[in-house]
Amino acid sequence: MLLKNSARFSHRLSNIFQPVSVIPKDAEIKRQDITSKSQRLMLELGIIKQASPGCFHFLPLGVKALEKLTNLVDEEMKRIGGQKIIFPTLTNSKLWEISGRLETVSSELFKIKDRHDHGYILSPTHEEAASSLIASLSPISYKQLPLRLYQITNKYRDEIKPRFGLMRGKQFLMKDMYCFDVDTTAAKQNYDQICNSYDNIFKKIGIDFIKVLGSSGTMGGELSHEYHYKADIGEDKILTCPKCSYSANTEISGEKQCPKCGNQSIEISFGIEVGHTFLLGDKYSKPFKATYLSSNGKPEVLQMGSYGLGLSRILAAAVEVLSSEQEIRWPPSLAPYNVIILPPKRGSKEEQHLKDSNAVESLYARIEEISSLKNNVLIDDRIGLTIGKRFLDAKRNGYPYIIALGKKITQDPPLYEIVNLDKNEQLYLSENSLLDYIQTHASSSSSSGEASAISI
Ligand code: ATP
Ligand code: MG
Repeated sequence: MLLKNSARFSHRLSNIFQPVSVIPKDAEIKRQDITSKSQRLMLELGIIKQASPGCFHFLPLGVKALEKLTNLVDEEMKRIGGQKIIFPTLTNSKLWEISGRLETVSSELFKIKDRHDHGYILSPTHEEAASSLIASLSPISYKQLPLRLYQITNKYRDEIKPRFGLMRGKQFLMKDMYCFDVDTTAAKQNYDQICNSYDNIFKKIGIDFIKVLGSSGTMGGELSHEYHYKADIGEDKILTCPKCSYSANTEISGEKQCPKCGNQSIEISFGIEVGHTFLLGDKYSKPFKATYLSSNGKPEVLQMGSYGLGLSRILAAAVEVLSSEQEIRWPPSLAPYNVIILPPKRGSKEEQHLKDSNAVESLYARIEEISSLKNNVLIDDRIGLTIGKRFLDAKRNGYPYIIALGKKITQDPPLYEIVNLDKNEQLYLSENSLLDYIQTHASSSSSSGEASAISI
């Protein structure tokens, strides 16, 4: 038997909880809710499910993509000495009174009270919590600096218009890092290093991005940069100057000319903000009294930086940039699975030919041995369906490599059909050449995408 059905193998497509639902074009309410291509594809293909406007269930494939992104970010954070912590979701409102933000961002805050009538907010970000943690230990020793603390947790914002699915949610996953330094020079050096590390993260994800001067907004501080994916549905406008390569959010630089060189033939494009870095100075550390003891024994106020990456937004934005209206596309670095194997249809000549062999499971096992593809291979075991039907499905689901055991599997030597979606390439290969091909292509694309960056 080609596929044993006894065990509930997790690498069989039929065992994956992926409720596919085509959203009818004429469903009035649904149509109003769906505001972007990525949102529709992710809903229809069972990657996420809307719980209420701005709140989403992540289904197994969505979680898998998110875990890949999380691992990629964790690896890079580890490389630069980031230490992972978790701040409480509930932040005492008093902390936000101290920073003044209880007033300035009031309308976006989810505010709640406990049974003793104490006020809390569901944290939208954690500058106050981070400063208050360090203040409670202050003065810390200069030897502990620079201190780089980060977390990957849900954030809560009462967005006036939650939309575009994961891109603007009321609850979303953010990686946020808070850094403490001895003085402004050290803080700026740290800032540059962390921006560098963000560049690496975006290069590894593999989608072209642009880093621009950003506005500090209600966060405050001295210097800020935003990372954007260019897309028509982007809600920010980005100015780029082809002459001097300056780029900035038009919020801070207008739209008429390059503020750096005066060039008037600038480019304006729309961007989705996927990351934001802030050099904060002592905006939070001073009111919270977060201090350190310098080498000559004097207490000094810490200099601070804060660094956000919208992880759930990055997933949706990546899909938005790469997909067509009908078919989802993932960067291989984030694809829930990178390879799908399509065994022959039940009752077909090809199935007969292979009936005493272990061809499918053994191919699966050999691909899984390629280290970058471990836990990344699926078998589409719905063999009641033709290969053609399952192939179209696999394409719509955007598995970067689709391998079919089609007509040529009966030849000597047997040939496998492989389609590389990224390169739009179709080849017939023997098992060994197939493995060589996947090894070469998959390792280069899943670990280090060749994203290009324009930065200032
Ligand atoms: P925006 O201008 O899009 O509202 P922001 O500038 O308020 O975002 P930051 O406070 O800089 O957001 O948060 C850091 C990152 O978190 C953003 O760069 C973005 O990627 C992500 N993010 C912010 N708000 C949301 C949201 N409502 N849903 C999903 N991701 C978000
Ligand atoms: Mg921002």
